[in-house]
Amino acid sequence: MSKILVTGGAGFIGSHLVDALVVKNHKVVVVDNLSSGKKKFVNAEAKFYKISVTSPKLKDIFKKERPEIIYHLAAQKSVPFSLAHPLQDATENIWGSLKVIEASLAVGVKKLVVFSTGGAIYSQAKFLPYKEIAPETPLSPYGVSKLTVDNYLRNFYGPVKKLNFVCLRPSNVYGPRQDPYGEAGVVSVFVHHLLKHQACHINGSGRQTRDYIYVGDIVDAAVKAATRGSGVYNLGTGKETSVNTLYHLIAGLLYGTEAKHQPAIAGEIMRSSLNSAKAFKELGWKPKTRFEDLVRIMVEADKVR
Ligand code: NAD
Repeated sequence: MSKILVTGGAGFIGSHLVDALVVKNHKVVVVDNLSSGKKKFVNAEAKFYKISVTSPKLKDIFKKERPEIIYHLAAQKSVPFSLAHPLQDATENIWGSLKVIEASLAVGVKKLVVFSTGGAIYSQAKFLPYKEIAPETPLSPYGVSKLTVDNYLRNFYGPVKKLNFVCLRPSNVYGPRQDPYGEAGVVSVFVHHLLKHQACHINGSGRQTRDYIYVGDIVDAAVKAATRGSGVYNLGTGKETSVNTLYHLIAGLLYGTEAKHQPAIAGEIMRSSLNSAKAFKELGWKPKTRFEDLVRIMVEADKVR
């Protein structure tokens, strides 16, 4: 049993991670400002602090709780928001992450597991499915800020300050408690609109691809990363699915409404899928949930929204 602090533990992925840690009998502390997360998602067994990771009081909480392991998920996670508000994105995602890293050092944590992104850092399709060594060419402030934090860890806090860290780079995560605004928000949007018989809109041609992965599989990798691995890991299924295919999968199984196309978003990556061979080998992890189960999972999730 360990004392574990999770930033962003009231959010989509973070709340599932907290649930998994509580089941394993760990003592869990959640730090979240509830900017997009929900208090009702926070496991009742976890201690909760409503505070921003950018707050000067963050270090005091770390010193009081003295966690052995930190998971850092708190983030502004919207690519379109980052394009419109790059300064706020940098404040939350770079400055906030540096505060978490510094506080982790101050209490001498055994391991820091940071949630980066695999969906917004790679963009050169000739290297698909992307390995960790693929060129890092983000097209949005969100991708740049996530990569910046990875670089602080890889180039300074790891080698110079001897901080034991893992950066996880998930592809596009779907599952219960997902809201429509994140990297795989389109799954949640399509299911929710189609169940309400509302029209769906596809940005651009719909031929842009993503690698959709189930939240339970990402939580499984995160749990393993507390005791295994070091450095950066891509977490994906290696499969590319276009937005059009995703729409037809969901619409075909629900109602056959045609989607309307709208202009493409600047800064959107055209194709994405991740090669996770490094995580298979070093974390002993493999995604287990089948893409075909996506619609069933999301329809069930929409019922309890
Ligand atoms: P989410 O918005 O559901 O969760 C983020 C949580 O952080 C929320 O509870 C929010 O209230 C909290 N938060 C935001 N800013 C904060 C701040 N300044 N201080 C304290 N708490 C703050 O998002 P998610 O989809 O669960 O993403 C979790 C992490 O995983 C993020 O770092 C995101 O960038 C990363 N990620 C997500 C995906 C995906 O497909 N969802 C893919 C790759 C990476």
